[in-house]
Amino acid sequence: AKDEGRNNYQFYTTTLGAKNPELLTLEKSLRYALERQELMVYYQPRIKIATGEITGMEALLRWQHPEMGLVAPNVFIPLAEQSGLIISIGEWVLRTACSQNQIWQQAGLPPLTIAVNLSPKQFRQPKLLETVAEILAETGLEAQFLELEITETTAIEDLDFTRTVLQGLQEMGVHISIDDFGTGHSSLSRLQLLPLHNLKIDKSFIQELTTDIKVAHIVKAIVTLARSLGLRLTAEGVEKPEELDFLKSIHCEDVQGFLFHKPLSAEKATEVLKSGR
Ligand code: C2E
Ligand code: CA
Ligand code: CA
Ligand code: CA
Repeated sequence: AKDEGRNNYQFYTTTLGAKNPELLTLEKSLRYALERQELMVYYQPRIKIATGEITGMEALLRWQHPEMGLVAPNVFIPLAEQSGLIISIGEWVLRTACSQNQIWQQAGLPPLTIAVNLSPKQFRQPKLLETVAEILAETGLEAQFLELEITETTAIEDLDFTRTVLQGLQEMGVHISIDDFGTGHSSLSRLQLLPLHNLKIDKSFIQELTTDIKVAHIVKAIVTLARSLGLRLTAEGVEKPEELDFLKSIHCEDVQGFLFHKPLSAEKATEVLKSGR
């Protein structure tokens, strides 16, 4: 289906540059996207390799623009970030995702973690803890079923600040995940002082896993180190059976990727959960 492909928004990612007038128009219409209900949250399953079960879902934002079709998050999230719109949009994503997870639990489905991405500006907004607490109370979701993802780059920019915020979230019982791990060129030792639950190895590593032996060694080292620090490990962007075989052989816990599922609409995600795949 159109809404699940990547190619239909390729145009926007490749032809629009910064300060492009079309980008300005896009930014204006993004201001109305929320109230016009053009934004949607899609869900990508996270699978536990050992059992094949779905243990989590990552919430991924989609924008169904009335004229332009599906606009990629890589295009409009930066716009939302620059304009500050990310605060209200991010809050909506968080509320929608928590509420969806609560709906799944109340339908009697096995409990899942819902992972929600936080942009740098969202992570640095003073009211973050308050907002998260409010949304959990409002939706009734237990904190342990929410995981917040911040990128490695966001995390290491100001480690003291990061530690303070993450400790606050940990006290609430929310889980923390480091996204795009390996791209920020930090070492795990810099992150070990943070209260983390999960590391996500960036998909750029997975893409080279079976063609570059050095990358395979790096991934193996990351898996070993994560285990010694007591962190779960998720490999993202798994597309090929060979990649899965390798990840299995080095005892990586979880995978996410097109090999299993693309991001799904709430409706399709519910079907997948109910069919137990
Ligand atoms: P991310 O957090 O690293 O999300 C993973 C991206 O990889 C998603 O792209 C997902 O569709 C894609 N992906 C998953 N499996 C595969 C695979 O097997 N192969 C390939 N090639 N790609 C795969 P998406 O949905 O386009 O999102 C792109 C980025 O936009 C996200 O990267 C995240 O940084 C940002 N984003 C998405 N939703 C939100 C949101 O609600 N809030 C914020 N702040 N950022 C978001
Ligand atoms: Ca993510
Ligand atoms: Ca990622
Ligand atoms: Ca990314």
